[in-house]
This record gives sequence, C-alpha cells and structure tokens, in this order.
Amino acid sequence: MVSAGGVGIAAPQVGINRNIVWVKRQDKIGRPNEVYLNLKIVMTSSIIVNFSGDGCLSIPGISGKTERWRAVGIEYDKIDGTHVSEVVDGYTSSQFTAICFQHEYDHLRGILFIDRIVP
Ligand SMILES: [Zn+2]
Repeated sequence: MVSAGGVGIAAPQVGINRNIVWVKRQDKIGRPNEVYLNLKIVMTSSIIVNFSGDGCLSIPGISGKTERWRAVGIEYDKIDGTHVSEVVDGYTSSQFTAICFQHEYDHLRGILFIDRIVP
C-alpha cells in the first residue's frame, strides 16, 4: 500500500511466497513498522466505506477509490511466536490502518486494489 509514502508491503510483492506482511501502524504512537506472520482477517465491521487514495507499491503512479470495511478483526503471529488477536480501525486519509491490513491481506490471496476500484 502506497498512500502517504508507502505504509505496507506483503511478501509476495517481493517474490517471497509466504504469509508475511509489514505495516506502518498509523494507529500507534510513533507509527512503528511492524511485521505480521500468518495474517488472517477473521472479522469485519458491518460498515463499508469508500476509501479514496488506495494505491500500491507494485503499481506505481496509479491510485483509486476502493470499497473497504471500516474496521477488521485480525489474527497473526509475531516474530517471537506470540499469537495475537486484535481489532484494527482507521479509514481516514491520515489514519487508514484498517484499509492497509485489508490491502495487504488481499496481496496474500492474489487480489490487487485495482480489482476493488469503485466509481
Ligand atoms: Zn499493494
């Protein structure tokens, strides 16, 4: 995901066929970059939003409006082996962490943001 200068990338984008994702956590203090292993979206909000400015490091120069959930429940493993469940929110232009996780999760399943463009 590329909005605001690149805030996430999935392993398949760099030729690594594994469930590994990196996300810059805009919803956390200091906006740390974190790594997620075996990421799954296990729950979604009932509210869907149109997110303007979806884009991708693998598709430079193009952005668009996509239909996304406002919040998602995710599960993943950390590098130290800890299994984590959390709910991630954020769908505005300055804090779109929920959108980012959906974008990266799509990469793991071969779906690109251009597949989700809405008018
Ligand atoms: Zn992408």
